[in-house]
Amino acid sequence: SANNKLQKDIADKVKIDEMRKEFLDNVSHELKTPLASIRLLTDSILQDASIDRDTAREFVADIGEAADRLIHISQELLELNRLDEGRDMAQEPVDWTEQVEKIGRMLAPLAEEDRITLETDLGEDCIVRCNQEDASQILRNLMENAIKYNVTGGEVLVTTRHQGAQVLLSVADTGVGIPEADMPRIFERFYRVDKARSRQAGGSGLGLSIVHDMVLRNDSTISVAPRPEGGTCFTVVFPAFDIEEDI
Ligand code: ADP
Repeated sequence: SANNKLQKDIADKVKIDEMRKEFLDNVSHELKTPLASIRLLTDSILQDASIDRDTAREFVADIGEAADRLIHISQELLELNRLDEGRDMAQEPVDWTEQVEKIGRMLAPLAEEDRITLETDLGEDCIVRCNQEDASQILRNLMENAIKYNVTGGEVLVTTRHQGAQVLLSVADTGVGIPEADMPRIFERFYRVDKARSRQAGGSGLGLSIVHDMVLRNDSTISVAPRPEGGTCFTVVFPAFDIEEDI
């Protein structure tokens, strides 16, 4: 049995090494694409002495977009690191009504670009026990995806409900939907259903994996389901903040 344990330890180590390798492969790949664009666009501008002003401006705008992608990816990698270290884990009462209104204001310009309506249906007493920063990241990511993967003129509905010892948060959209076959994989790191669309929207496939980790470490659960009328609905169930227990 000591032998069995040794074999298991070795198998675990091989598995961790494989995961680390895969992770680094993915990160390198994500960094390579925007860096290659920056290189290419810079060369185009520098090598063409007679380049006209408009074309040059267009290329510089593309360089800016590639830089935004790199900023976004590095922010997400820092976030993953914060999760792995398990720091900043103080849990406190978080009022979903305040959060939904705050994130809604932040995302309003993004929604307006595609004429997407943000609707809310906020129940009474929806106060959860959660790390404050995690709570706003979770909500922000789900709402941002609901906008990014929507259709022009579509809708996003955020609902909160207090039910017994739990608080439900759901983010539903009228968007492109997620194929049944991809559903089990969307919480994996770097997994994207439609790579082209995700990249265009500035995504790296890390968002939902971060949400998933944050949900778990706050004693909550997350699930996803297609909506019968089309689109997707994510539901997160948090423990309700209980004054008796927490003070
Ligand atoms: P990304 O950074 O690409 O948005 P996420 O981890 O947030 O990555 O999401 C993973 C993938 O799941 C996305 O690339 C997209 O294909 C799909 N997805 C996420 N949310 C939605 C949604 N609300 N509707 C349709 N597809 C979605």
